[in-house]
Amino acid sequence: MRVLVAEDEVVLANQIKDVLISDGLKVDLALDGEQALRLAESEPYDMMILDLGLPKRDGLSVLKRMRASGVETPVLILTARNDWTDRVDGLDAGADDYVAKPFYMAELSARVRALIRRKVGQSKPVFRKGDVSFDSRTSQVLLEGEPVDLTAQEIAVLSYLFHNIGRMISREELAQHIYERDADRGSNTIAVFVNRLRKKLGKNVISTVRGRGYVIKDQA
Ligand code: CA
Repeated sequence: MRVLVAEDEVVLANQIKDVLISDGLKVDLALDGEQALRLAESEPYDMMILDLGLPKRDGLSVLKRMRASGVETPVLILTARNDWTDRVDGLDAGADDYVAKPFYMAELSARVRALIRRKVGQSKPVFRKGDVSFDSRTSQVLLEGEPVDLTAQEIAVLSYLFHNIGRMISREELAQHIYERDADRGSNTIAVFVNRLRKKLGKNVISTVRGRGYVIKDQA
């Protein structure tokens, strides 16, 4: 799951980034409004955190342009604590949620996860398939109740497939959602990650759709 963080206070931006990375998300930063708009319109983010007070182009203008050009990425706006009109303007312009500064990181990360789930139509934070469960709040994976040690990239693949449970995901789509923008993709292909997941979790969790991609089939 990929998140764009548009925030010009570098220290805060990096704090947010670190928290989201520890939540198992892939994060790109934009430090001004022009960069934020460019990235939001060109990369398939699963959600976006948007500070309203950005240089070059303010957050509200970024949001309006994104929505006008059909970008439907869920957006959480960061607003000043005492400026309720900002919140109204932001929500009216197509934001999905807001957090007022200063805020607790735990609240921000919970709201981020909730928006990501809502985007794909999932309401519960824990996903299950057979003997395997994935908790999107902690990125913990259990097999028959026992924790399984997965790499960050394996978690990213599993998380994207679980969030889209029941839907076939092509390798291209998967690749677009499990790497940061400038990540070194090396020789670790999607197929390698899936094979490792099968070794650790058993063969029945992720199904291959021959020549097309992968799916975690819904049990219902
Ligand atoms: Ca700012």
